[in-house]
Amino acid sequence: MEIKELKNNIETIYENIGKAAVKAGRQKDEIRLMAVTKTFPLEYVSMAYSAGLKLFGENRVYEAYEKYIQLDKPVELHLIGHLQRNKAKTAVKIFECVESIDHMETAKALDKRCKEIGRTMKILLEINTSGEESKHGFRAESDYFKTLDKILLLTSLKPMGLMTVGPLTDDKTAIHESFSFLKKLFEKTKKDYADLNFTTLSMGMSGDYEIAVEEGSNLLRIGTALFGSR
Ligand SMILES: *Cc1c(COP(=O)(O)O)cnc(C)c1O
Repeated sequence: MEIKELKNNIETIYENIGKAAVKAGRQKDEIRLMAVTKTFPLEYVSMAYSAGLKLFGENRVYEAYEKYIQLDKPVELHLIGHLQRNKAKTAVKIFECVESIDHMETAKALDKRCKEIGRTMKILLEINTSGEESKHGFRAESDYFKTLDKILLLTSLKPMGLMTVGPLTDDKTAIHESFSFLKKLFEKTKKDYADLNFTTLSMGMSGDYEIAVEEGSNLLRIGTALFGSR
């Protein structure tokens, strides 16, 4: 891919974000764009950085590690895929935020590995808002709140918000419902846990980011619309 093409794609995405923000009566500069670089080579990361993107996402720990350890630019990298406990040790070396916490055991492992090297980790809790079997995330609200209470006792983890992957469908109503559910849960959490620094609502990918903006997302995770299909 040429940088010119990437810059065009970025411009188109920002235009679409702008239109969706106007429609929803929101400020477009409160919405962050993440470049999802999974399966793409390091050169794409450098190119995206040169084009002005500073926030990156990967879904596999070892792939991310091999790639980003070589990068000499100060990017913010998030893990957006499922974390297995035995990879927490590697995860704490490269990620600034793990967006996919959906189990207490994973949270504990991550907290332990953070303590070993004296750092903290921002986390998002992942919610399964679509009900699809193949997706990760908390399914029941009660499970989510119970786990959040326990996570608050893990001093090296900093819960910052929520993440979801929208339903795999062309049905726009279903996508709206999924994202609006997450937004409500986000607001409820902020209200019930006033001390928490809950600021991030990560939802929206290449196929549904405009709907996500309309429903209140402030972090869009985009791969295909930037770099082409994988
Ligand atoms: C791959 C991936 C994305 C980006 O998907 P695109 O459709 O390529 O934009 C976003 N979020 C998660 C969790 C992913 O795994």
